[in-house]
Amino acid sequence: MIIKSIELSNFRNYETLHLRLDKGTNIFFGDNAQGKTNILESAYLSATTKSHRGSKDKELIRFNNNEAHIRTELIKKGNPYRIDIHLKKNHSKGIALNQIPIKKASELYGIINMVFFSPEDLNIIKNGPAARRRFIDGELSQLDKIYMANLSKYNKILMQRNKLLKEIYFNPQLKDTLDIWDMQLVNCGNEIIKRRKEFIYRLGEVLSKIHNNISGNKEKLEIFYEEDVTCEQFEEKLLKNQSKDLKFQQTSVGPHRDDISFAINGIDVRKYGSQGQQRTVALSLKLAEIKLVEECVNDTPILLLDDVLSELDSNRQNYLLNSISNIQTLITCTGVEEFVRNRFEINKIFKVSDGKVEELE
Ligand code: ATP
Ligand code: MG
Repeated sequence: MIIKSIELSNFRNYETLHLRLDKGTNIFFGDNAQGKTNILESAYLSATTKSHRGSKDKELIRFNNNEAHIRTELIKKGNPYRIDIHLKKNHSKGIALNQIPIKKASELYGIINMVFFSPEDLNIIKNGPAARRRFIDGELSQLDKIYMANLSKYNKILMQRNKLLKEIYFNPQLKDTLDIWDMQLVNCGNEIIKRRKEFIYRLGEVLSKIHNNISGNKEKLEIFYEEDVTCEQFEEKLLKNQSKDLKFQQTSVGPHRDDISFAINGIDVRKYGSQGQQRTVALSLKLAEIKLVEECVNDTPILLLDDVLSELDSNRQNYLLNSISNIQTLITCTGVEEFVRNRFEINKIFKVSDGKVEELE
């Protein structure tokens, strides 16, 4: 799939912008704080209705304005699509697909498949487990709507259960109602565990091939699902931990505590890997993500690379850029020297300065 154009009005530091993108590599370069990431953010918003930085809608609207618009036109398997997002300061956003308003943001999911790669992603191995869970959940949700629904249900039940644990402290007879939440938590949680297990297995197969290539056949990378509880144990462990949960007013078992770990040639990458090895695993993960999306939706996703190239050495830059030659890519960077030096193919190049974009010939 490819994005043909993005139109912005009063979005971040853009008063108006009409961008026509190429189906290959699009580079946005310019000094810091000029609006490069804002462009990627608008593309990400069209795919997910949310900001990749977790910003609130009102923060996306240009200062001193009350509304912002983003219009994206794309071609997917030969068919044209138009997505309109209308951000409002004090109301929820309006979304339209092919000029027909849609009520739930989830109806838009899956229309655009996008892979976002930022320097923070390079720290996924050394960061805490929450970042790795976010990665797995993000990927699975993009590819599996049932998973997405289950995850959101699980999180709601978990919140309710934790709230109840607090209430029981003041009102002990409420304890009788705990079983109802436990049953729902186990049913929903087991679905999540099952799907995560399958997904991590598939991810592992793709990942180890890619990593083997990047490392010049020197490193064997494995991924492990570190489940907090197995499906078989969940119900029993939840019951066993009930008094502990009541004491700490928190749910101490379940897939919300899962993690994944990595090993290179049998050695734990988080504990013993060098910084370079950890970053290469992160790069392999992103490339595996692209491959899995391609396999699942039978189409190429759109790749957004925010300032990531300058964080990689030239070998890894080469590997990354060579593996994405058939994908539409939006790249931000402060300079284009690397591209020229390494003779990477650039299809369109835009200079970004103070909320204005100029296409260079
Ligand atoms: P860097 O190279 O440092 O990453 P960048 O070009 O990616 O820079 P962006 O994050 O895209 O920069 O844009 C930042 C600029 O956008 C800042 O100058 C900021 O003040 C401005 N900006 C952010 N939100 C708004 C807003 N709601 N209204 C107007 N300007 C905004
Ligand atoms: Mg930026």
